Amino acid sequence: MKHLGTNVDLTSKDEDKKSERKAWVNCFEIKGVLPCFTTPGYIRIVAQADNLLDEIISILALKYPPGKVEYFEELNELTLKIHNRLINLFPSGKITMTNTKDLDEARTVLEEIKNMINEAYIDFLKYGKPKSEDLQAIKHLTWLNLYKYLPRTNCGACGYATCMAFTMNVLQGNAKLSQCAPLRDQKYSANVEEIKKILGPYLLQSLGWK
Ligand code: SF4
Repeated sequence: MKHLGTNVDLTSKDEDKKSERKAWVNCFEIKGVLPCFTTPGYIRIVAQADNLLDEIISILALKYPPGKVEYFEELNELTLKIHNRLINLFPSGKITMTNTKDLDEARTVLEEIKNMINEAYIDFLKYGKPKSEDLQAIKHLTWLNLYKYLPRTNCGACGYATCMAFTMNVLQGNAKLSQCAPLRDQKYSANVEEIKKILGPYLLQSLGWK
């Protein structure tokens, strides 16, 4: 089992070791298939990762827009609301998934989760462990907090008729913050700095600011 320590050495010239470290999880094994509670004929599954998820869960929580996650800090458990289903991740490496058509679909979604976990690990290597404020931002970020730093001209350049509609779609993960091209104007540079402050590096990335 690997742990996120302070002694991660990314300067190694050993390419094999580097790529091994980048894969926090290599696979999930499906341990149980049960009938879905909500959709007749569908299944829910229980799977197990080949590594603990205890130290990666909070980073994974920040990989998704706030509208798609519920992070329970006290338990260090995460619920993802993606692909029209609930996916729960536990520190032990257990993962459960509802509303799934069949095992092929389950494997496809598990592969996606695995890739996100491994991206979260790369984020850890880049930014370090998230601060408590970063995690609090998921809970406390409202559309109004973000909206007030946008240009609020309702110009439509982002593809949404109003800045308010755009903000809500950003928080739901349907739009990327970088779609607001006017925000890059020099006159909004102080707003961008405020946005960076309230979001932190992780959320800034998950909301699509580049
Ligand atoms: S591009 Fe920016 S300023 Fe224009 S409507 Fe969208 S969010 Fe508002």
